[in-house]
Amino acid sequence: MNQPAFDPYTIRKDFPILSRRINDTLLVYLDSAATSQKPSRVLEAHAAFYRTSNANVHRAIHQLGEEATEAYEGSRVILASFIGAPDPNCCLFTRNTTEGLNLVANAWGRTHLGPGDEIVLTEMEHHSNIVPWQLVAREMGAVIRYVPITEEGRLDLDVLADLLGNRTRIVGVAHASNVLGTINPISEIARMAHDVGAIVVVDGAQSVPHMPVDVTALGADFLAFSSHKMCGPTGAGVLWGQRELLEEMPPFMGGGDMIDRVTKEGTTFAKLPYKFEAGTPDVAEVVAMGVAAEYLSDLGLDNIHAYETELVDYALDAIGTLAGVKIHGPRNGRASLVSFSLERVHPHDLSEFLNQDSIAVRAGHHCTHILHDVLGVPATTRASFAFYNTREEIDLLIASCRKALDFFG
Ligand code: PMP
Repeated sequence: MNQPAFDPYTIRKDFPILSRRINDTLLVYLDSAATSQKPSRVLEAHAAFYRTSNANVHRAIHQLGEEATEAYEGSRVILASFIGAPDPNCCLFTRNTTEGLNLVANAWGRTHLGPGDEIVLTEMEHHSNIVPWQLVAREMGAVIRYVPITEEGRLDLDVLADLLGNRTRIVGVAHASNVLGTINPISEIARMAHDVGAIVVVDGAQSVPHMPVDVTALGADFLAFSSHKMCGPTGAGVLWGQRELLEEMPPFMGGGDMIDRVTKEGTTFAKLPYKFEAGTPDVAEVVAMGVAAEYLSDLGLDNIHAYETELVDYALDAIGTLAGVKIHGPRNGRASLVSFSLERVHPHDLSEFLNQDSIAVRAGHHCTHILHDVLGVPATTRASFAFYNTREEIDLLIASCRKALDFFG
């Protein structure tokens, strides 16, 4: 293993929860794809906001109101720079990835989709990049097509090329799959989609926290991601979009803070980004998400990606030695998670067994019914890693899996 650019054992000290013992055994947290743990810097920033600067944003003309607004808008600048977005006002604060994708489906979809129009999704999408489109498609009479996955667990781009046509309005795709770990070639997909005049909506929930993501290089039109998967608090997220598209989209929700002028006859709306931020936002969460982005940037997204790639390679080799195992997804070029099935042990039994050894993994369909139908299994076990995990923890996972194999015989 190359010397990592940081020492994971030192980094672990930033995360108070990682010293938690359960049944007198040190926690092994391998569920960061569901939600990441939070470093003290983020926890302190969240508490400090409430202790010293808590006020509503954009309205109050008093010291606290100004501090809160400055911190909230400062976070927008940090997040924009984090994803290489030239214009912070094109970064809308949401509650999470799900809300960002619903915003696009509703605000863009309802104004641009008509009967017979086509939305192209993929078989590996999370439900949050399927269900909003199904809801809008049903109402507008649009049709959804799905790009299949290959045997290896990559998108079949030849089929995508065949599916794209003059009825395609939208291509919705995950940057990284939360089950297969596949990292999808977004810039290539965006080129193909733009050639037929479609827009590209990227689910960045599993990529933004783990690798450098630059919206300009991606070439997509929208990118959604969640704070809680990138060491920030729950209740905050970002939807970035191309300015021209955001400008012409109607609001998603109406209320305070998103208006220019309200009369009995109707309402004119505020400029970007406020048009899409109705009501009091999750101010403390947004502020702490900015601190999380700074924390990750200080570690270096390149360093994080390199370390996690080494870790996932190690995990793939180790998990591959288990009796009767099937690992889902490609061997290389993947995000830092491994989903697998053991012939003799059901995923729920396995995760319960691992829990007795204080090892936290995920078992289930991971909000990807369509993908699991394609894989032909109702559920899988998923171990997902962050830069605060170590090889030692993967060894503990394997030892516990072996015990489970013996136990379930
Ligand atoms: N997309 C992917 C690929 C995910 O892994 C998740 C979270 N499991 C989501 C979307 C939804 O994220 P959130 O629940 O934060 O909205």
